[in-house]
Order: sequence, then C-alpha cells, then structure tokens
Amino acid sequence: MLYFTLQRTLCYTWFRMRVLRAAHLGMCFGVRDAIALALEHADAGPLTILGDLVHNPTVLSALEAKGIVVARDLAHVRTPTLMVTAHGTSERILARTRALGLTVVETTCPLVRVAHRAVAALAREGYHVVIIGQRDHVEVRGLTGDLDHFDVVLEDDDVLALNEHPRLGVAAQTTQAVEKVRHLVDLIRQRFPQSDLRFLDTVCRPTKERQSAAVEMASQADVVIVVGGRSSNNTRELVKTCARYCARVHHVQTDADIRPEWFDAVKVVGLTAGTSTPDDVIDRVEARIRQVEAWPRNVAGVAKDL
Ligand code: SF4
Repeated sequence: MLYFTLQRTLCYTWFRMRVLRAAHLGMCFGVRDAIALALEHADAGPLTILGDLVHNPTVLSALEAKGIVVARDLAHVRTPTLMVTAHGTSERILARTRALGLTVVETTCPLVRVAHRAVAALAREGYHVVIIGQRDHVEVRGLTGDLDHFDVVLEDDDVLALNEHPRLGVAAQTTQAVEKVRHLVDLIRQRFPQSDLRFLDTVCRPTKERQSAAVEMASQADVVIVVGGRSSNNTRELVKTCARYCARVHHVQTDADIRPEWFDAVKVVGLTAGTSTPDDVIDRVEARIRQVEAWPRNVAGVAKDL
C-alpha cells in the first residue's frame, strides 16, 4: 500500500497552466453586425444569403436552423430577398440582382467598402490594379468584379508572373497579414522599379489588432490554440503568424478538437480566434483547456484520458 501511494506521488503531478488570451481576438464588428441583420431579416421572411456569411461552421449551422438558405450563385436564389455578406460584392453583381427583381439586403462591412473605394480610385486614376489576396475568395471577387483588367497575387511566384505596367496600384484583401502584404508590395516595387507604384493599405483594423495581439501572445506561449473555421482566411493567417513565434500551434474549430496530449509539460497556453469565431465557441475552448489543466498528468508525458 505504501509502495502504491509512493508510486502515485512520483508518477503524477499537477502542472499549473496559465491560459493567455490575446488582447484582441474573435468576432469583429463587421461579422457581428452581419449576423444580427441576417437573423433579423430571417424573422421577417424567407432569406437567401449569397455565399457564406462567415467562414465558421458553428455560425452557419445557427443560420441554417433559422431557415436561412445559402446560394453560391444568383441563378440558385429562390426567395424574394437576398443578402450580400459582410465580404461585399461588385456593382455588376448588385445590378444583376436588382434586374432579377430581388430585394437586396447589404451587410457589406464598412471597412470592405473602404477597400472597394480604394480599388475604384486606383482604377479611375489609371493604375493597373493588383490585389494581394486569395483569387477565389468572395471578398476578392467583389473587389475585382467591376474591373476589366487586374491581377491577384498571394505568393512570391505570383509577383514573378506579373507583367509590367507603367502605373501599378496595389491594395489588399482586408484580412491578409500585414507583414505578408508589405513583403509582397516590396517585391513588386523591386521587380518593377520603373513603374509608378501606389499602395493603399486596405487591411482592416480588427485584422491588424488581432495579428499584433497574436504575435505578443504567441511570443510568451508554450503552445497556442487558434479557434476558427478551417476555411476562414484570417484564422489561417493567425495560425501562420503564431507559428512564427511559437513552435506548437494548433488550429481548432470547436472544443471537441482539443487534445489533452498537446498540453504536456506546458506552462502557458496562448489563445486566439479568427474574426468569424463566436464568443461562446472561444469560451468553450478555453473551458476545455482548463478542464485538461485540472486533471493530474503523468510526468512521463502521458495525459490521463478525459
Ligand atoms: S474582418 Fe475586417 S473587413 Fe472583414 S468584416 Fe471584419 S472588420 Fe470588416
């Protein structure tokens, strides 16, 4: 009995883990307002949303439960009212929508509108527009949808494939990482030193705040948990940013994805979340991490089953 007690004392100990939340994390005002408007309009009558309102499965399920339909294309809309997401859309798509006799509810984020105005100004002033972003992303399609000529770049190779233009006007998808955007702007400048290059920084403030808060948090953490949808661009950018400052980064969609073995001998767990992640999803992830912390753990590195 004494041997058994001594063995348990030697084998198990309590690790004190601190959960460090990034100073800015989770849902931005643009997404929050868009969801609130969608729910409000769904109460008033049948509603179709053009594309994903947010790239978060939890939110999408909640909208579906309210009877809201998502259509990828105007041809598939069957309700009299159509909602344009926070990502915005082009004037051409809006004109087509109105021509179909649909009532349009626009939830375009004001900061996406800023990006639209920046791109329109560049085109009006004779710049060949280059967008830093994901070519097929709904926001990028909206930003470029009224242009006849443009380029979209995301990697160094994309810059190498650009053609020369006397005037190059560069803007970014609002959720791109600022460091990456600056790097690509510098690369474009180096590649075309003769061109008149104008860069308008359209990365939105909430994205910048979440990125810089993630750097501060990840620099102090032994392991980082990033909460957000798998297809959320800004969540994936947060993962990449955190991975530059912390060797152990895990992307989870919900608390069910948390694995106890990630926290072996960990003192500080960093926590951040993308701009489409609801507060309650983040809270449940944090609660799950604390649940892991509350269990005795094997010093040899094997976490007790939860
Ligand atoms: S990420 Fe930025 S631009 Fe996009 S909805 Fe949120 S605040 Fe608006």
